[in-house]
Amino acid sequence: MAEIDLTADCSRCAALCCVVLPFDKSDAFGFDKAADEPCRHLSGDNRCAIHSQLSQAFSGCVQFDCHGAGQRVSQEVFEGKSWRTEPALLGPMTEAFRAMRKLHEAVLLLQAAERLPLTEAQDVTRQSLIAALEPDRKRSTTELAVLESGQSLKAVRLFLASLREGIRRPRR
Ligand code: SF4
Repeated sequence: MAEIDLTADCSRCAALCCVVLPFDKSDAFGFDKAADEPCRHLSGDNRCAIHSQLSQAFSGCVQFDCHGAGQRVSQEVFEGKSWRTEPALLGPMTEAFRAMRKLHEAVLLLQAAERLPLTEAQDVTRQSLIAALEPDRKRSTTELAVLESGQSLKAVRLFLASLREGIRRPRR
């Protein structure tokens, strides 16, 4: 299985997080923004117009990490096309981003679980869950939608929850 890139590369993304994510005016965000609506600070070249002031004015954006989902949706699923030049792609791109982010997050958590004191059986399950997600397989928007509502991500959530239980209750 090929390694997938779980590090965000904003230079290869169609600014999807600045469109998809909703936020409320708070200490972390300067105003309300609805989901799937381009942020008013987003420039036409997909850069943040207040990037140098983000940590003071919009710290919530600094904390967000798509784990590489943005560039993968932009470059792999949509082959470099963008909602910028093809507005009809806005909906499909935002849906694909949501699903891809869940996939990358699940892989990241399963990879991190390797550092826990797992039993042999738990580690086998961990590896089989990663394999079942087929994280490196190129997917269509339809397949991503199915993935989001399918059993693979649910199985990951149940597995990770079972690990939490084990950590909370130390063996005597
Ligand atoms: S403030 Fe900047 S980084 Fe945050 S959503 Fe808006 S354009 Fe994106």
